[in-house]
Amino acid sequence: MTNKIAVLPGDGIGPEIVNEAIKVLECLRDDFGFAMDIDHGLVGGAAYDASGSPLPEATLSLAKAADAILLGAVGGYQWEHLDIAVRPEKGLLGLRAELELFSNLRPAILYKQLASASTLKEGVVAGLDIMIVRELTGGIYFGQPRGIRTLENGERQGFNTLIYRESEIERIAHSAFKIAMKRDKRVCSVDKANVLECTELWREVMERVAKSYPEVTLSHMYVDNAAMQLVRAPKQFDVMVTTNMFGDILSDCAAMLTGSIGMLPSASLDASGKGMYEPIHGSAPDIAGKNVANPLATILSVAMMLRYSLNEAALADRVETAVGSVLDQGLRTADIYTDDSQKVSTSEMGAAVVAALKV
Ligand code: NAD
Repeated sequence: MTNKIAVLPGDGIGPEIVNEAIKVLECLRDDFGFAMDIDHGLVGGAAYDASGSPLPEATLSLAKAADAILLGAVGGYQWEHLDIAVRPEKGLLGLRAELELFSNLRPAILYKQLASASTLKEGVVAGLDIMIVRELTGGIYFGQPRGIRTLENGERQGFNTLIYRESEIERIAHSAFKIAMKRDKRVCSVDKANVLECTELWREVMERVAKSYPEVTLSHMYVDNAAMQLVRAPKQFDVMVTTNMFGDILSDCAAMLTGSIGMLPSASLDASGKGMYEPIHGSAPDIAGKNVANPLATILSVAMMLRYSLNEAALADRVETAVGSVLDQGLRTADIYTDDSQKVSTSEMGAAVVAALKV
């Protein structure tokens, strides 16, 4: 079967880093029999400039027809003055909503070669490999009613609603358990069930879904303790699953444990496992066009795509091993450079990964 991949480079460093990821995909096609068909589309500021919309109809159709989507990044100074409805970021949010990408996977992996980049002690983080599964399309960020109202005494009151249906909890639970089956088979569900009824239900549904995955061990943790444990002893976690807002906060905290924004991939999946894959960083307009950006987060996003949407775990392992191998060789882009390493450009890093793949 030919894998249909929609490639949306976006803005800023997006095209440069996506270019290197495509070289990796082409190597998998030419040397390892990976059948693929790549189609390019515009998204974000580039799409707005060309068509007046950050998510043109043609891009949406392309994304809908694909088996998986690879995205660079969107945004830049030149579009900051635009009305919020047509800002580049709307392209990204539109894709997530239109494709119902409710399951956000954010790994926090610290390659042992980069352990000194973390603000935490090396012993605490070296070898870190956590997968945070964040519910992305529900919870307090979307719940109604919401707003700011004026009370009878004239005082203003802000309000939002934390709300989850059982079916929404069930589908994110299945997502987390299925991922755990491909890893160390441990899921920690993070909630605040001692205070919030909504997450009491969350916990109950997690327990129910867990029965379908007898090989996976489920544990529960209150979010305040989870935040503490993430910086105290992060290696205790395998898969963490949590609500939209808790996941937003905990995944940034976990990402920072690794200290290197240019290294972290992410995925957003729908119910059938189709997904959009992108680095967690933005379009880095300050370094765009200079051939200095780190392409490894995007290349590792390709590995996630192979594993989670295209059922090619062996190829995913191969890509991740190749990334480990270039780090072993001491090759570093500017963002992860240290005195004892060798500084390389974006394209040199991409070429080194391709060379390592072929070994
Ligand atoms: P950013 O992640 O783009 O950059 C933050 C810092 O990290 C910058 O100094 C940048 O040079 C550096 N950096 C980021 N990626 C790098 C890489 N691969 N290699 C080396 N250095 C890298 O965040 P920002 O500066 O807050 O935002 C810039 C633009 O990106 C804004 O328009 C913002 O809205 C957008 N943004 C987009 C996404 C996305 O597309 N998913 C995410 C975050 C921000």
